[in-house]
Amino acid sequence: MDEANVVIECRDCEFRSSFPHVGSARVALEDHESALGHDVDWQINRVDAGVERAGADAGICGGSGRVNADSPLLEWREADDES
Ligand SMILES: [Zn+2]
Repeated sequence: MDEANVVIECRDCEFRSSFPHVGSARVALEDHESALGHDVDWQINRVDAGVERAGADAGICGGSGRVNADSPLLEWREADDES
């Protein structure tokens, strides 16, 4: 369907994987972090330039929290945090 994929890469070990959806990548990321206490970085690769920008806006890699409240990428985070 679309060309999106999400790559997660651990900063503390050799763990690295890619997923077709943010949701599945997030599950694996959190599983690794919670299981091993590692710091996992992730990167969204997508043909759509707007989505790439949204990923940068979200400050995911820097861990600086939300920057762009309009980013669709924040929806799943808020769903977990606030529900
Ligand atoms: Zn690791």
